[in-house]
Amino acid sequence: MRDLREMWEIGGLVEDQNKDKVADRVNIWFDLNGEIHPEGLIDFCARLGFETTSLSFDFLLQNNRYSNKLSFVKNDIETSVEWDLNHFLVRYQNEEEVSALLRFLAGSWHRSFVSGVVPIQKIKLNENEIFIEAKDGNMTVIPVEALQKTTSEKSYQIDSLIEVWNELGFMHSDQASPANNHNVNFLTEDSLEHHSWIEIYYGASRIGMESTALIFPITARNEPNALKFHFEPGDAKDARIQLDGNIIQFTGAGKSLTNAISYFFREKHWSSDGHFGCWERQFKKLDNKEESLFHITWNDEGEIQELYDKLGEWGEYVKDKKDLNINVFISEPNAIRNDMKRNIENSFPQAKVSIRSAFKPGYFWLIEEVLPSLLKLRKHIGSISINCLKEERADGLELPIRWIQELYPVDEVMAQELQIDSSFIDFKLCEVMDLDATYEVIVNDIQGNQLYQNQIAIPVSKVPYVEEGKHSYPTTAYFSIYEGSKQIVQHFIQTDRERFYTFYTEHILSELWGKSDHSSEEAGFLRPLFDRIEINVEMSEEELKLPVGEERISSLEALHEDLYFNTLDYFLIKGEQTVGKGYTAAGGVYPFIKVKEGIKPKAEITAYQWLDKTREAILTEQLLFNSGQRTPIEVKYRLGKERDLIKEDISDYVQVEKIPEDLPLPKKAQFHAWVADYSYRNKPIYVYEVFADIKETYYSAIKLTANKPTVLIETGHHANEVSSMPAIAELIDEIKEKYPDIIKNMNLVIIPRANPDGSELHKRMIADNPEWKHHAARYNAVGLEYSDVRYKDTIFGEGNVVPKIMNRWAPDIVIDNHGIPSHEWTQPFAGYHIPPRFHMSYWIPNAMIYGIARMLNKKTYPEHSAVLDSIMHGVQQRVKQSNIQDMNKYWMGRYKKYGNQFMPKLFPIELVEELIFYKWPTKTDTSSRDAISRFPEWVSADLISEAADETVYGEALEICKEAQKLFNLGSIEWINSEEQEVYRNYDLEDIRVERLRPLKVPVISENLS
Ligand SMILES: [Zn+2]
Repeated sequence: MRDLREMWEIGGLVEDQNKDKVADRVNIWFDLNGEIHPEGLIDFCARLGFETTSLSFDFLLQNNRYSNKLSFVKNDIETSVEWDLNHFLVRYQNEEEVSALLRFLAGSWHRSFVSGVVPIQKIKLNENEIFIEAKDGNMTVIPVEALQKTTSEKSYQIDSLIEVWNELGFMHSDQASPANNHNVNFLTEDSLEHHSWIEIYYGASRIGMESTALIFPITARNEPNALKFHFEPGDAKDARIQLDGNIIQFTGAGKSLTNAISYFFREKHWSSDGHFGCWERQFKKLDNKEESLFHITWNDEGEIQELYDKLGEWGEYVKDKKDLNINVFISEPNAIRNDMKRNIENSFPQAKVSIRSAFKPGYFWLIEEVLPSLLKLRKHIGSISINCLKEERADGLELPIRWIQELYPVDEVMAQELQIDSSFIDFKLCEVMDLDATYEVIVNDIQGNQLYQNQIAIPVSKVPYVEEGKHSYPTTAYFSIYEGSKQIVQHFIQTDRERFYTFYTEHILSELWGKSDHSSEEAGFLRPLFDRIEINVEMSEEELKLPVGEERISSLEALHEDLYFNTLDYFLIKGEQTVGKGYTAAGGVYPFIKVKEGIKPKAEITAYQWLDKTREAILTEQLLFNSGQRTPIEVKYRLGKERDLIKEDISDYVQVEKIPEDLPLPKKAQFHAWVADYSYRNKPIYVYEVFADIKETYYSAIKLTANKPTVLIETGHHANEVSSMPAIAELIDEIKEKYPDIIKNMNLVIIPRANPDGSELHKRMIADNPEWKHHAARYNAVGLEYSDVRYKDTIFGEGNVVPKIMNRWAPDIVIDNHGIPSHEWTQPFAGYHIPPRFHMSYWIPNAMIYGIARMLNKKTYPEHSAVLDSIMHGVQQRVKQSNIQDMNKYWMGRYKKYGNQFMPKLFPIELVEELIFYKWPTKTDTSSRDAISRFPEWVSADLISEAADETVYGEALEICKEAQKLFNLGSIEWINSEEQEVYRNYDLEDIRVERLRPLKVPVISENLS
């Protein structure tokens, strides 16, 4: 005889097939023979489902997968259960009594129901008393009445049949929680057909599996508050499922009714590739209407033409003068500048002509003019000091170090050419009294004797910033003519970039503001003011890839960033001035810029209006079934605010949603994909779920997480940060192959591409300029940081994905993979540095990978703090063992040399061991969009990774992917499921399973040997 104490445990009627110490299937089949349909078997099946995390609907018929068999044998003497070898034998006198016994086993029985450890070999029901018979002959007797459960407070408000089984699971409440507690009643009638009973039993098992607490019994009880499933055979040929308050009514005749019950309990939700509710899918998408706000074209003669015109005007004046020097700064690539030099020399044969770049002029001066001289001195060089003027204009946005910044990364380029270490080249910041130029370069030999000296003054113009009273002083086009050492002519010329930028800020921005839709309170915050503005620009400018990492010199990339961020800043500031609060979501700002050598500048600008769109609420109330097909033939639902009742023939409805081909997919690991929502532009947003392999049809996310920790990793949040999406698909496979313990210890939930509209925009932008940063593609289609609308009633589906996962999985750790520029980010029209909205510099990378943690108060949340320590240590260990460590060191050195040593507050370094890990103090707040702030009781850590991946390919992309993987691995691999406490409770309230939160960190045992 087997011990009945073990029946609800692994090794009993449930099994752990994948050996992770969590039950993942049932291990019994039921021999029903069509003769007996005890109502209590509904309870028994619900409990069977409750004790596992996944199951299939194949245990109500003979099945070799399962080692135990349950059979009912009519017996005149007793109603009892015994478990002999693999045979679970239920003797019964009548259906009523066996139901009572099954209800007892389902709702009350567990290992410690009776004290002691002596095996229990028989349980029987006699005259409303339960007799529990131990092997030693001891008998415990309990009156069935004593097992009556208390009534529950839990009540249900159901608006749609589809709410019962949706993308979150079974009847999750609106509030995310690790608990999914239920109070369901099944009301049946004896006249139900055999096949209907089978489907009901299966349904109960699926509900049990999806519940983390369940009130028993679920039959023979009709409680007003409970969610009720009422099965009522009738005469109607077509069966129907009708929502009626908190009652789901199944009525109809024979086969039709079986079809209805079967569909309701078997079919998966449409978001998981099922049919259930698929007629609702069409209403999750938005229409694609669009309307233009304005269209404006811009043409200009350009800076070169103006230069030639002015030189022509002065030509007459200087034509007889000797010893002339013509110095030109112009924002053109080297090839164009060389052409111009020849042209001007032809017109002014008596002059010495120099034509310099008006973009990063100091850099080009050092490379094009100083370096050739230094190459001749190469062997003697001991040090190169570059004195840079301190920038001090009070109304300028430039940093004091702007002239040093404008040289970046000249030390590396010169060092390569001179074959010296870049540490031989250093920058000094000089007060105006100590330096009568913008730059001075002094080269000494090893003994400290001066070998070379040169200096240059750089012209700037003054351009108003989008905030009144603030200006930028970008380097500009210019020419001067010297006669000997005497300057006789000087003329400033706007660069093509400045011409267009000025036109844009003076005419376009005000037009855009004026025509924006400010009509709702949400405008500019939770929804944009305009749909988007497309700015198509063509110009001739410097576009140069440098032999240093991902560095490049691109004045149009700079313009791209200026157009994007300064437009956002304009609306931020205008909002402050008009509604007292800065607008954060102006609209999509799409600069499409083409670099075309030698052309005159031109632009075309089209703005599109914001059009209010709604996602019609759809509430399914009734489904109709015939006897011929499994799926419903007709649906009745209410639509929209008016709640019009609509009847639709859905007999031919098929459900298709294919995973997009370009979505990164794991190749080896088992994963489960579902559509969490649709983006604003109607692209499906997928979620992958990875956990210990199962072979079952159904699994419960919330039950899996009740047994093991769960980690959520979001990738591609900002779409121009490109490494996390391909990295995660690879990491899933690597975990499967190299780190199987991770999947033993936790469940992983992955958003493989969180922002598909942003990704689509990024794709369009890289078509013209593959290696630019493209910040304009970081947000969603209409320029919204979609995490701002999380937990809000929004039409932006991308904002719903994390809230849905928080509800479906209640994850312990939330990781958001991000990125930073892979190369210099400069905005000449915002003070050369990045825009003033950022309180920390992202001008050059500070690391190949670094971390950020939202951190709760250490004293109030010491356990969270211990989790964070484990994470930071874990990431540090991973990075330390890789070549990323050296890259981090390299970037730290660069960040110090160019920024931190001069301005430590703007260029902060916060180290954990050797890794940068910023900690953002976070308060708890039930309305927060951040996981740890909103759910501090059960979220243990909330992290952000930052890899230098805007926008990289090839080897650089591989490195960033590796960095993201190391961060994700290091953050989670310390988690040990065996350290976590899973708590089970069986009392008069309900049966319950829950895992204690927050996560427990492993106890490190000191090895003293
Ligand atoms: Zn980001």
